[in-house]
Amino acid sequence: MKKTETKSLVLLRHHLKALKLPTMHEACEKIAQRCAADNADHLAFLLQLCELELIDRERRAANRRLKAAKFPTIKTLESFDFKAQPSVNKPLVLELMRCGYIDQRENLLLVGSTGTGKTHIATALGVEACARGKRVRFHKVIELVTQLIEAREQRQLARLKTQLSKLDLLILDELGYVPASKVGAELLFDVISTAYERTSVIVTTNLPFENWTEVLGSERLTGATLDRLTHRCHIIECNGESYRLKDAKRRRRRPGGREPRTGTDRP
Ligand code: ADP
Ligand code: MG
Repeated sequence: MKKTETKSLVLLRHHLKALKLPTMHEACEKIAQRCAADNADHLAFLLQLCELELIDRERRAANRRLKAAKFPTIKTLESFDFKAQPSVNKPLVLELMRCGYIDQRENLLLVGSTGTGKTHIATALGVEACARGKRVRFHKVIELVTQLIEAREQRQLARLKTQLSKLDLLILDELGYVPASKVGAELLFDVISTAYERTSVIVTTNLPFENWTEVLGSERLTGATLDRLTHRCHIIECNGESYRLKDAKRRRRRPGGREPRTGTDRP
């Protein structure tokens, strides 16, 4: 009897592996023992195993999506201190965390000076979208523009654009720190207009709208880009002092902390 059990277990494991059911493969013996102890019937046993496989499969897929999104650092809202940044519309951020805007193909602009939490919020929204089954990709604008130019030179542009078109959410971080070349600005505009009403876009920028021409070059291109981005768009303003700066000052004020260095201090 014992021998048959072992044989069927070996065969079962083999089949589960062939069927690509790793969690069932891993847990079948333990769950079988538990079900036997609980007097659970065969269907209950199978149900438990299937549930475990499904939960694990979803977790694995979420991890894959998170990896594919290529966030520079993972940030969540739990670590975001809304009190430190009162200008940020908290109810709107919480609403956006539910990802309805992605289903509606709406965009989000995070506007404000440096260090005010724009990238943090954009990343937290992206991470949540991954957990909710959305395909997300985070790009620094300057890196995406370089990638687009290179892809065009290598005749790979169509391929890159196909990849982008499969996304549910495209995050474009730091529009405005470096002006794009004419070709770069046109390629970026192309990405934004292809995404229009198909893929949600989150843009973080330190530039007020009237200064976008500095990055995109022509008035015409800036107008057309803003037109697409701001149609069906949420705007979050992050104003105030840089969190990094504030945090550094706070640390140094603590007993035992160093005094903030002044411009005349030597390192
Ligand atoms: P920005 O993109 O606006 O320049 P970041 O989002 O990169 O700013 O924020 C700079 C750093 O400060 C990051 O490490 C971020 O996690 C942190 N930070 C900014 N605002 C807050 C906040 N309100 N609560 C907690 N951490 C914050
Ligand atoms: Mg940033």
